[in-house]
Amino acid sequence: MGNVVFINGEFYEKEDAKISVFDKGFLYGDGVFEGIRAYDGKIFKLDEHIDRMFEGAKAIMLEPPYTKQEIKSIIIDTCRKNDVKDAYIRPVLSRGIGDLGLNPFLSKKASFVVIVDKLVMYPEEIYTNGMSVIVASTVRNSTNALPPMIKSLNYLNNILAKIEAVNADVFEAVMLNEDGFVAECTGDNIFIVKNGVLITPPKEAGILVGITRNEVIKIAKKNGIPFEERLFSKMDLYVADEIFLTGTGAEVVPVTKVDKRTIGDGKPGKITTFILEEYRKLTKSEGVPIR
Ligand code: PMP
Repeated sequence: MGNVVFINGEFYEKEDAKISVFDKGFLYGDGVFEGIRAYDGKIFKLDEHIDRMFEGAKAIMLEPPYTKQEIKSIIIDTCRKNDVKDAYIRPVLSRGIGDLGLNPFLSKKASFVVIVDKLVMYPEEIYTNGMSVIVASTVRNSTNALPPMIKSLNYLNNILAKIEAVNADVFEAVMLNEDGFVAECTGDNIFIVKNGVLITPPKEAGILVGITRNEVIKIAKKNGIPFEERLFSKMDLYVADEIFLTGTGAEVVPVTKVDKRTIGDGKPGKITTFILEEYRKLTKSEGVPIR
């Protein structure tokens, strides 16, 4: 795999892929990004990721330097230049270069970067045996402060919870919102199954509206799995029959322990396994071809 990075209209080798220290993304986390996955030469849900990035940009009044169609072409082109089939794609849209002040409108032009990298996945063992997680003491950002709906370059809230996960020797941490309801994990959305009903926190819980989450909801509806979008607490996690996490990199990951409590019978549940299989079918059959 090559490692060519797109930066503001040019391609650079990895060693030379650099951005100014005066870029507001670096100085203040002023920008938005995406995490996209390519499977066997096809980019999965590319339009959905570009739409979410543009919505985030609109919310923070950041004018992208390219149209959606141009960004799509740049992403495909960067994949081609890197000669990849399976990859993790990271577009980054930042406010661009300005002075040291906060006023975002003094930056004349946004920066746009596309990194194409290899996938770092959870160990396969986790998909067969399930994963242990903790509930973090770090609360998810308030939607009234830094809305989790915006996939912003400021991920310190998530990183603080990730530090707790790493210190507890687990891969993920569940984050509660200010009211004590379950929101999401540091880089994944969360679902539980209770008495045959699939439940996930609504947007209002303070979550990134995951593209994998949306696909899982569609799978549930299509297959007649009872589904509810509603608030639930840490206690509901402890007594859930099944739990799984969703994300572009993670796909659908079974969770079998939360804060050392065993979930269900300690093995990935039936609904979780079914949804993972259906999701993997989608990733094999859909996508925007790189060539
Ligand atoms: N929540 C957070 C905080 C995330 O960063 C992500 C993406 N890694 C997700 C949820 C899952 O979103 P998606 O399914 O679109 O990857």
